[in-house]
Amino acid sequence: MASTLADRLSQLVKTMRGQARITEDNVKDMLREVRMALLEADVALPVVRDFIERVKNKALGAEVAGSLNPGQALVGIVHKELAATMGEGVSDLDLATQPPAIILMAGLQGAGKTTTTAKLAKHLIERRKKKVLTVSADVYRPAAIEQLKTVTRQAGAEWFASTPDQKPHDIALAALDYARKHYFDVLLVDTAGRLAIDEALMAEIRDLHATLKPVETLFVVDAMQGQDAINTAKAFKEALPLTGIVLTKLDGDSRGGAALSVRQITGAPIKFAGVSEKIDGLEVFDAERHAGRVLGMGDIVALVEEVQKGVDIQAAQKLATKLKSGDNFDLNDFLSQITQMKKMGGLSSLMDKLPAQMTAKAGQPDMDRAEREVRRMEGIINSMTPLERRKPELLKASRKRRIAAGSGVHVQEVNRLLNQFEQMQGMMKKMKGGGLMKMMKRMGG
Ligand code: GDP
Repeated sequence: MASTLADRLSQLVKTMRGQARITEDNVKDMLREVRMALLEADVALPVVRDFIERVKNKALGAEVAGSLNPGQALVGIVHKELAATMGEGVSDLDLATQPPAIILMAGLQGAGKTTTTAKLAKHLIERRKKKVLTVSADVYRPAAIEQLKTVTRQAGAEWFASTPDQKPHDIALAALDYARKHYFDVLLVDTAGRLAIDEALMAEIRDLHATLKPVETLFVVDAMQGQDAINTAKAFKEALPLTGIVLTKLDGDSRGGAALSVRQITGAPIKFAGVSEKIDGLEVFDAERHAGRVLGMGDIVALVEEVQKGVDIQAAQKLATKLKSGDNFDLNDFLSQITQMKKMGGLSSLMDKLPAQMTAKAGQPDMDRAEREVRRMEGIINSMTPLERRKPELLKASRKRRIAAGSGVHVQEVNRLLNQFEQMQGMMKKMKGGGLMKMMKRMGG
């Protein structure tokens, strides 16, 4: 695995310290690195070219604020632009129509349509309290109809029976009729995919679209498809007025560059990400976080930047070794963590950066405030019993009142600390040890 963009940019940046502006001269090499990083993440070439051009225009002449150097500032600009491009126009599913709201699923075979149909059913039932019906118009693979039946049951939705001897068009109409008569809020229509684009398939799905007039037409695409995603996306965009994208298999190794390509080619927002084979493996797409992944930097762009301002590297590394996984991260660990982090501008400012919000920022962190905040947090944690520190879930109202009184703060302060602790715990889990180790190494380099 190649080193990350941040690593490579900081190599380049070593030669240009003290420059206060991003100029035609110093930006060229850096943009070459950005271009490589995007290509490595499998963003399609024409999309990369376009993107680099936009970033260049934004970057040229941009002031490099305060403690940042031009390389860091450029990472910031790239990250921001990437997140903005991928996140533009993102919204939840549009169900504002006379029920049933029809959602048509489109994509190649194996992209994850059937799985995603059931995941969406579950999402709509649980998050939006909808009554959901699914139907399969895939008459070419009998197994596909059975598969939808199984996963629909897991989702807790209702499945409308169809058979391989029916026409997709007739199946769609029958399901719609049933959905109307039984007052379903949403009808999810799974369709046939092929291994590659073919005209008959496109004609069929166009016909289904014309018949059903869906409020959402979702293009399901496999994030592992990489460069090929661009051709698939083009074909589906030409055939159908897509309203959204679902990017599946983001739990795989891919850096997910397909997101940028597909977003750019179709113009449709990426609404969801598939993150496991399981029925609950669906997330609302998070463009900020995904931008970090495409650049090979995870959520930690901003964190790294803060860290470069100075921290006790050895102590941090020791801590990193200890915190191999987030599973048993408790308030004792949290306490050593915040003690380490006070040099980085206080925990609250650090937390503000997760997910990374890269903005060129002037000035040094307010050390006094950070010191005070850490002292107060230490005070609160020191007022807890050893058992409470190991098992924060014990902290119900009466214990919190005791701790607040003991450390001379309001109960809200105790709650705030526990919130921050939970965020940190979540972050530790997400980084799964390896990530944290890498982060700490980068701090040292
Ligand atoms: P379809 O042909 O488009 O309907 O695709 P399927 O829904 O049958 O999915 C194809 C394969 O991809 C199945 O083995 C799914 O379990 C798997 N799959 C779908 N979505 C995801 C995902 O988000 N993550 C992972 N790891 N596997 C997925």
